[in-house]
Amino acid sequence: MGKEININQAQDEQMQINPNDLEDVVCNKCSSQCFEQTFLFKKLSAVLSPSGQETMIPLQIYRCADCGHINEIFLPKTSQPIDE
Ligand SMILES: [Zn+2]
Repeated sequence: MGKEININQAQDEQMQINPNDLEDVVCNKCSSQCFEQTFLFKKLSAVLSPSGQETMIPLQIYRCADCGHINEIFLPKTSQPIDE
């Protein structure tokens, strides 16, 4: 009949984080602490694509909610050396 919901188990181990131990991430440009999600698109060249066609790949990143600046730490690490 009645459903029993056990909520005790969820509270076994909580991560203990002291806010004072955390480092603020701020916009490099305007020092805002607010960020919003946005997407970058990368193009996978036809040569590398399994389908043999140029493919667009979305990458989710964060940008400053105030000025739109994207900190370098949020940028995906795609700086691979181009081998020839
Ligand atoms: Zn900013």
